[in-house]
Amino acid sequence: MTKPKTKTSIIIGASHAGGQAAISLRQSGWEGDIILVGEESYAPYHRPPLSKDFLSGGKDIGDILIRPLETYETAVILCVRGKCVDTIHPKDRLVFLDGGDTLQYDKLILATGARPRELPIPGADLPNVFYLRSADDVLKIKAEVQAGKKAVIIGGGYIGLETAASLTKQGMKTTVLEMEDRILQRVTAPVMSDFYKRIHTEEGVNIVENCAATEIQEDLKVITTNGEFNADMVIVGIGVIPNIELAQDCGLEVGNGIVIDENCRTSDPHIYAIGDVTWHHNPIYDTHLRLESVPNATDQAKTAALAICDNPKPYNALPWFWSDQFDLKLQIAGLSGGYDDIVLRGNPDEGRSFAAFYFKGDKLLAVDAVNRPQEYMVGKRLIPLSLAGNKSIDKKALADEAVPLKTFLK
Ligand SMILES: Cc1cc2nc3c(=O)[nH]c(=O)nc-3n(C[C@H](O)[C@H](O)[C@H](O)COP(=O)(O)OP(=O)(O)OC[C@H]3O[C@@H](n4cnc5c(N)ncnc54)[C@H](O)[C@@H]3O)c2cc1C
Repeated sequence: MTKPKTKTSIIIGASHAGGQAAISLRQSGWEGDIILVGEESYAPYHRPPLSKDFLSGGKDIGDILIRPLETYETAVILCVRGKCVDTIHPKDRLVFLDGGDTLQYDKLILATGARPRELPIPGADLPNVFYLRSADDVLKIKAEVQAGKKAVIIGGGYIGLETAASLTKQGMKTTVLEMEDRILQRVTAPVMSDFYKRIHTEEGVNIVENCAATEIQEDLKVITTNGEFNADMVIVGIGVIPNIELAQDCGLEVGNGIVIDENCRTSDPHIYAIGDVTWHHNPIYDTHLRLESVPNATDQAKTAALAICDNPKPYNALPWFWSDQFDLKLQIAGLSGGYDDIVLRGNPDEGRSFAAFYFKGDKLLAVDAVNRPQEYMVGKRLIPLSLAGNKSIDKKALADEAVPLKTFLK
């Protein structure tokens, strides 16, 4: 009797989403082969520390691996590192790797993430102009960090600001250039932007808003619409774009990300997509979006694994995120877009701890909590209840710090 052929799951992209998918497939009962293909030379590592401890501290790559290598060996996962998938042929269920190897799959998971948006100005390709997405990017930056030297960061989003904090802590003279009229404009409310501008300024970072870089000269002078800035190093952090090309070229439905359903399935029933690269529906907010966050990457990995193992549990997660800058731990739960009212607990104009609760009418949409873990935890529990109409929140009481937070959970 011939042995039935073993089935194979292939995962493209070996980071937060891909690594979790490999482990979750095994945990969810996948008995066939699992092949995890990643173009980076490392096993999956934590990306958030790249702009934080990995940049400012003495950590090396071994300290930030998500799991020890033995975990993949024990789970019988074949990790193919330093290889890029060039093409997918969905009809024959084949993937083609650079170097000529071909692999056949029964199920395929795309976890190709995102890459930095390139700065479209002259001089952006000069040496000492860096992007920050991978461990290798940070190793190049670290080699140039020197106390007293000047760093210019183009882009005042979370990554730009975290990088500014890390470099300032290492004694660099750091300037952040933001083309909009306030830092963090794309992601949060003016109250948060003002708070972070104050803290960065107090810590010695020069924040310049309404300032679009137009050219970087040979000597690394950055020419902008709002002055000229000398630099020894320039770091560009102007957002990311999803790596959709593999999916697009093989005919999958794509938009601002690979389009997936509630089980992370693409328009091809044998191909799934997870993490930063996906355009998906969030049932809690009843909206479509692309999320750049670790919790989303791991949640979607688990969802895809369960669906592949015929035990579907549709994705239904509240988005959450965090950012560490200086001594500030910002925790964000929910999506604040569309808010019409903000309730503050604590004073953002003084000190280093407060929380902002975002409402639309009487519905709590989101919370931004700076050094306020309890407000974050309570907000995270209240948001789904409030959005579903199962909880009314007394805004006046919420703003009153004398009212204990646990009152709101009753
Ligand atoms: C500096 C930095 C700080 C961050 N801080 C936070 C934070 O504090 N909190 C938070 O929640 N999130 C944070 N994020 C975002 C978070 O890291 C991402 O949401 C997360 O990494 C997404 O995981 P992913 O696996 O979907 O994609 P990615 O991490 O982008 O991984 C995709 C992988 O696929 C590989 N790949 C792409 N195409 C191919 C191909 N054709 N063949 C083979 N391999 C391929 C890429 O090389 C990459 O390794 C941060 C990101 C950065 C860069």
